[in-house]
Amino acid sequence: MPLEVQPYVRFGLLEDLLNKARANSLWPLTFGLACCAIEMMAAGASRFDLDRFGAGVFRPSARQADVMIFAGTISKKMAPVIKQLWDQMPAPKWAIAMGGCTIDGGPFKYPNQYAIVEGADLLVPVDVYIPGCPPRPEALIAGILALGDKIKAGRRFKG
Ligand code: SF4
Repeated sequence: MPLEVQPYVRFGLLEDLLNKARANSLWPLTFGLACCAIEMMAAGASRFDLDRFGAGVFRPSARQADVMIFAGTISKKMAPVIKQLWDQMPAPKWAIAMGGCTIDGGPFKYPNQYAIVEGADLLVPVDVYIPGCPPRPEALIAGILALGDKIKAGRRFKG
């Protein structure tokens, strides 16, 4: 290996190691918006046991969380609060859009509606989308595993 590239190779290995640690210890923000949040709670409870994948430590403070799971309809009234919570989360951080409402407004999207934000990606950069109304807990677990794969591959680090 040429001498001049060695520092970069070492840095790459360290980054890989950090990404593996991040992917296996995701801490979601304790945060639910509507009916999809019930499925998210079920995913964290004993039957589905999200802890098996290192993502069961839901944090009560945005400052201790690194993944925001949008679980439910995003009302326009909530949008500034959500944005503030996102800004309080330390980088690197990730977002999961769980359910039709968070993907594009779901069943509440119709011409001239004035109450909801038509997609979580209008507020924050979304890493994983989970379709369904509501998605089952297994679908959320699959989404978290997909996010883990993405982090391990080092595919995005947004602040
Ligand atoms: S996607 Fe369906 S289940 Fe989820 S919050 Fe919207 S209406 Fe409720």
